[in-house]
Amino acid sequence: MTLPPAAAGSSHRRDWEALRSAQHLYCGGPQKLPELSRMFMPRVCLTAAVALAFATPQVLAETTAQAMPETMAMLRHAVAAQTVEGKNQVPAFARWLAGKLESAGFAKSDVEIIPVEHTAALVVHYRGSDKSLKPILLSAHMDVVSANPKDWQRDPFKLVEEHGYLYGRGVADMKTNLITLVETFVRLKREGFVPKRQMILVLSGDEETDMASTRELAKRYHDAEFLLNADAGGGTLDEQGKPVLYEIQAAEKSYADFLLTVTSPGGHSSEPDPSHNAIYKLAKALDAVGAYAFPVRHNDITLASLKALGRHNSGPLAEAMRQFAAHPGDAKAAAIISADPAYVGQVRTTCVATMLDAGHALNALPQRADANVNCRIFPGVSVASVKAKLAQVIDNPAVEISVRPPPPVESPASPLRPHVMAAVAATIHQRFPGVEVVPGMSSGASDSMYFRNAGVPCYGVSPNFAKPNDTFAHGLNERLPAAEVPAALDFWHSLLPRLTE
Ligand SMILES: [Zn+2]
Repeated sequence: MTLPPAAAGSSHRRDWEALRSAQHLYCGGPQKLPELSRMFMPRVCLTAAVALAFATPQVLAETTAQAMPETMAMLRHAVAAQTVEGKNQVPAFARWLAGKLESAGFAKSDVEIIPVEHTAALVVHYRGSDKSLKPILLSAHMDVVSANPKDWQRDPFKLVEEHGYLYGRGVADMKTNLITLVETFVRLKREGFVPKRQMILVLSGDEETDMASTRELAKRYHDAEFLLNADAGGGTLDEQGKPVLYEIQAAEKSYADFLLTVTSPGGHSSEPDPSHNAIYKLAKALDAVGAYAFPVRHNDITLASLKALGRHNSGPLAEAMRQFAAHPGDAKAAAIISADPAYVGQVRTTCVATMLDAGHALNALPQRADANVNCRIFPGVSVASVKAKLAQVIDNPAVEISVRPPPPVESPASPLRPHVMAAVAATIHQRFPGVEVVPGMSSGASDSMYFRNAGVPCYGVSPNFAKPNDTFAHGLNERLPAAEVPAALDFWHSLLPRLTE
């Protein structure tokens, strides 16, 4: 349901003030409900402390139910907006989002679209009452990976709900989280909520490709208290759909591509000289890279996450995870963990050959052989040291090693701030009481990379819970359990006031 900004009115603002003024009983109309539902809701009396904890789940559920039709309409529009590389649809989509926010009461001067090359970033300031406090950034991206309708079972750019799932490009990565975050700004504004600390939505437009808009955002908004990223972290469900654990992404590995090049004089293939063959030299170098394992590493985040994974699983791998967490660096445990491709990245830097390009004719000796080696670098390890290690392992000066552009971004692990961890855990526990909340390090790169590099601590806190490999993000027939939409609305609406009051 859409309410005009006027419906928010000053009575809502007074309600928020009452919520904030401690110790006395708060008795009044439903503090966060639109006019219509007010008429039907019983009057509630809550102590301020309970009210601050955002209310009973009942109040939360009903306000979320009110917000659902508007949210789903926005999500439908968002999925239809083909914000893929090459179609240049992000600026129009950003303008549409800006319009929604302005009609909810955000001043035009607080909503800014920043054109960046063919895309755009959108920035929305939610002003706080205490201007001396640094803002909290809320990060999401507006673009999606491209999708070929011919390969999909349904139109990828049409939101479809079937058998408890939402289907469409971006429902998992990450238009649902984007829209529920925007809708939460809209709801809080209508309700008259005034945070103590300013919140700034920083929405990028090319996270899936160049991240030029992310770089621009990080350049402008590096003086922030911390950043919450809706595109990382999240909860895991088991096969029966029960919650296993929730991960707050507090670190990610750095991404670097190294180009290995060997050149040789070439010549007629009927007159070979194996000792000068560029392809043989490159193949030998790649063999050496493949056989090398970078040193075992750990940090507070990986130890906490391996400990939790070890507890929630069984078998030799789980045993090794528990052992590694208890005795960081344990070589035997590290070897068992490293043997599993899903977890090797949690205990060391990894480098792997991903592309080859060599020779110029079937009947000529190669003049050139190139390979790409892709590395995922452990936080705290420099790109230069990885390059030096590759050179040492290859041990052949004929193999030239260079870092491919764009320059890799070194991204330090973020310190685990107790109040952020506690606020996220409390919010998750409203939905799934008792589920374990642990920090984690991801091996992929997100927008947080540039903000961490600029000195802003970043926490990936996607509200979504899903089974492993069930959402097909970036893939065919991308989907998300439909229940994640109201859950995400609950999550943001509860978490943001918790962190900014
Ligand atoms: Zn994403």
